[in-house]
This record gives sequence, C-alpha cells and structure tokens, in this order.
Amino acid sequence: MFEQVDTIAAIATPAGRGGVGVIRISGTNVPVIAQSILHKLPKPRYAAYSQFLNAQGELIDQGIALYFPAPHSFTGEAVLELQGHGGAVVMDQLLAAVLNAGARLAQPGEFSERAFLNGKIDLTQAEAIADLIDSASVQAMRSALRSLQGDFSRKINKLLEQLILLRTYIEAGIDFVDEEIDLLADGQVLRQLTELQHTVKAIFNQAQQGFLLKEGVHIALVGEPNVGKSSLLNCLAGRETAIVTPIAGTTRDIVRDQIQLDGMPLHIIDTAGLRDTDDIVEQEGIRRTKLALQAVDLVILLLDDRYADDQATPELLASIPSKPLIIRNKIDLSGHEAGISPQGMVYISAKTGAGVEDLKQTLRERLGLQTQTEGTFIARRRHLDALTRTLTALQNAMSYIHSYQNELLAEELRLAQQALSEITGEFTPDDLLGQIFSTFCIGK
Ligand code: GDP
Ligand code: ZN
Repeated sequence: MFEQVDTIAAIATPAGRGGVGVIRISGTNVPVIAQSILHKLPKPRYAAYSQFLNAQGELIDQGIALYFPAPHSFTGEAVLELQGHGGAVVMDQLLAAVLNAGARLAQPGEFSERAFLNGKIDLTQAEAIADLIDSASVQAMRSALRSLQGDFSRKINKLLEQLILLRTYIEAGIDFVDEEIDLLADGQVLRQLTELQHTVKAIFNQAQQGFLLKEGVHIALVGEPNVGKSSLLNCLAGRETAIVTPIAGTTRDIVRDQIQLDGMPLHIIDTAGLRDTDDIVEQEGIRRTKLALQAVDLVILLLDDRYADDQATPELLASIPSKPLIIRNKIDLSGHEAGISPQGMVYISAKTGAGVEDLKQTLRERLGLQTQTEGTFIARRRHLDALTRTLTALQNAMSYIHSYQNELLAEELRLAQQALSEITGEFTPDDLLGQIFSTFCIGK
C-alpha cells in the first residue's frame, strides 16, 4: 500500500499512574481503528462504554470511547478518544494496539498543529493552549484563556482590516492616477496612519503585560552576608508560595524560582556581596555574579540600615550595570520610618514586614507591571517582535508621506500587514510554525 498513513495517536494524559488515561487519535483511519479496537464505530459524540481489544482480540482494558466525525472535532479531522485506566502498562498496550491498527505516533504539538492547519484555531489560540497548560499563576491562566477565546486574535484582525483598507486606498491612488497624488494633503491618510500607530502601541502594552505574566522578570538580589537577603525573599514569597528549594549554582549564588508578584514570576538570583578576594573559587563566583548582573532586568541592592552606605563596596557598585533599587533593611533595629525616601530608597524590615507593601509597589513601577491585569492576554516574544516590526513599518510609512514617496509608503504598509499576519499565523513561515509546535507536549 502506498497510501500515506496520516492518522496520528498519542497518550494525552500525563505519564505515570492516574485514575483515567486518555489516548487521542486523529485522522482518516479513525473508523478503521475503531473497528479494530472496539469492534464498532461509536455513535458520534456519545460516551460509549466499550471493551478495548488488541489485534488478536484479547482484552486490553475497558472504558469510554468518544468519536467525533470530521470536521466537528478539535483537529477538524475524525477524532477518537479512548479513556481507559491510567496505568503506564495499560496505556502503552492500548497505544500499541492503536498504532498497529493504522496510526503513527504523534509529534509534539501535532494535534494543535492540525487544528491550526484545518482552520479550527489560529496560531495565538494554539499557543494559548500550551500557555494555559503551563500557566504558573491564576493571572497567567486567565490571560491564556482570554487568548484562547480569541481576544488577542480579534484585536489583531481588526487592526489588519483597517490596515488593508488604508493600503487599498493608497495603492489605488498610485495605480490609477497618472500624476503623483499628494497624500500629505489628503488628511485622511495621515489621520488613519496615526490612529493605527496608537492602536498598535496599545496592543503592544497589553501584550507586554501578558509576556511578563508568562515569562516573569529576572532580578539579582545583591548584598553582604547577613543583611537579610534570605529573610526578604521569604517575606516576599509569603505563605501561598511553596518552600523555595535552593538550586546549587556556585557556592555563592542561589536561584529561587517560586516567588510571584501579582502572578508574575520573579526569577531571583540571590548573591553575596562582591569583595576583593584572593580565593580562586570565590573569584570565579564573583566573575559569574558580575555576568549575571548584566543579564537581569533589575538589580536590588540590600543594605543593613544600621550601617552607612559604604557597605556597598565601590567594586560592587561598579559591577551593577543599571541603576539598582536600594533597599535598607532592619529598620526595626535602626528605628527608621518605613516607606520610600525622596531618593527612591525603600526602608523595610524583613522581620516585621514593615515597608514591604511599599517595596512591592516600587517593584511594580520599576518592572512596568500594571496591577490591573484584566484584559491582558498571554503573549510571547514573537508576538512582541511582530508588533514592534509593525510599529516600525508604520513609522516609516509616516515619514514617506512627508517626503512624498508613495511607492515606499505602500511598501511599508505591506510590511506592516505581513508582520501583523504572522501573529495569527495567516502569514507564517513553515519553519517558524514547526518551531512553535515542536515546543508543545506530545498529545497536545
Ligand atoms: P542573608 O545572609 O543576607 O541572607 O541574611 P538572612 O536573611 O539570613 O538574615 C541574617 C540575620 O538577620 C538573620 O538572623 C535574620 O533573622 C536577621 N534579619 C533579617 N532581616 C531582619 C530585619 O528586618 N530585622 C531584624 N531584626 N533582623 C533581621
Ligand atoms: Zn542568604
């Protein structure tokens, strides 16, 4: 037989033991596979209690079979779901029988990819499925759900419509008018272009919030031993956070990954101070710390408020790339008032919790996190990149209006449309698609 086996199957539930395990099958061979395993094709969309049999007719398991004929399924193809008992051996046996009956093992993300290729969902929705499953906070989960429901795509599509209208208008002018038309004199074009830029900026800001929720920010917490770094982290982590496990890096740095601020993950490197040292191991630690400091979004310098500022050695200050957030701790001992000084220093006690709310507020401001996350949708780096390219193209288009270069203007608008279309996947190179779906788990 030369017919290509395009039917895919995978265990959709997590590996290991569970009450129920689900095998998902999608493709044209589904009816054949159903006949082989169930000895019948279940009534569409009805839970059919059934025995699951192998090719020799031996019983593997019994459970629920669900059949969704094409195109009314998640992938848009015929889909069969077999819900059996969630044991590793049972699931493996059942999967083997399904593969034997005419399916091949699905690649990671292949079900979602088929759903996308068959027009069931767009690319941002496919990504939102993965992000929903991976979400680490309620806020991230809600944002992923909003993307999954199409909030993000709708905004992009509306923008695309406006952009296409403008392009049509301008290109008609270029093609059918003999002499160059003066688009600058035509206030309409300028106004629409300005409006488009505003909308792209607004969407970018929302997407950036979603990106922060998903990816979090990287913070280095720097200070001499005993100033209270660990105490501050525990204080910020609060009760709802799992016990932080130190991941061994060097002897001098510890990464704690469990802290969240308004649902945004804070990836914090806790480092010791940077002193001059002859110790080779310590020097290596310092070298790594300095490298790490270059890569973070924010450096927090923690000082003991009982002592003067010179706790931060010039060596240390010199290795901090951007303006650090300075926190003065232990005000319960120094007697200083809690809160933010006019210079932006934050006075706290990690022991009593005084000033910690002010600190959180300062962090939100410094990290560009809006407290109001309603309307935020989950976003990825590639979405932000595409929006940035859209904005650049629109800005270029604007400058070409002023220099009366209508052909170049039209070209920039085409580029803007192309960048926007990449977001929803309407115009996305195949290798990028492959890259996106390959990061999904198998069975998704
Ligand atoms: P690290 O070495 O910078 O991580 O400092 P630790 O968090 O381990 O704290 C060193 C010591 O200072 C511990 O005994 C803490 O209980 C204490 N400490 C930390 N913060 C405060 C504070 O705000 N007030 C008081 N009184 N003690 C604190
Ligand atoms: Zn510590």
